Amino acid sequence: MRVKKLAPPVDVEPPRSGEDGSECVACGTPDSSYIWVSERWRVRAMDRPTGLPMVLILECRSHLDLGDLPNLLAAELGVMTVRLERAIRSLDGVARVHVNRWGDGSAHLHMWFLARPYGRLQLRGTFLSLWDDILPVIPEAQWRENLALVAAWLADFGGTANAEPAHIEWESPATINVPDSMEADPDGGRRPATLGDVEAAEA
Ligand SMILES: [Zn+2]
Repeated sequence: MRVKKLAPPVDVEPPRSGEDGSECVACGTPDSSYIWVSERWRVRAMDRPTGLPMVLILECRSHLDLGDLPNLLAAELGVMTVRLERAIRSLDGVARVHVNRWGDGSAHLHMWFLARPYGRLQLRGTFLSLWDDILPVIPEAQWRENLALVAAWLADFGGTANAEPAHIEWESPATINVPDSMEADPDGGRRPATLGDVEAAEA
């Protein structure tokens, strides 16, 4: 293992993903890919469970970055942030919810909500997003149930919940929902797409 060398600063930074609104992934993604949608806001999850009990992304519908929000959306961002934090913190086994906006990957505003598991004191602080890649993946049924709970919580205040409650697993364990992308993975043990992968892909 070697320490990564600090690269010299570039003179001009490259454009972020979706800097030109016509090629923005967020703008081009349908409501059905989100766990909850409203007139001006949408909430999405990773495509598979990861190491943390819950990782969610809050986006505005409009193609704007944080500093571009008009007063109405800026005020609603505060309300949505508090509401989503409460919803995630209400889940079993969640101690804290870390709220992050990095803004280096995609130009379209997206706020990260990362649930820190209760009792896991090592995970406190700035490295929670890295732990998401390191911890064992949580069971898919529990992940789906958590998504449904958060979506229902948000829908109590308006908007539409898309996440369905976890299906009862009548099948034998060998046939339970293994995502296609994991089944077909020739590496077998490769980790699912997580926050780190998404940020890297966006960049
Ligand atoms: Zn956009």
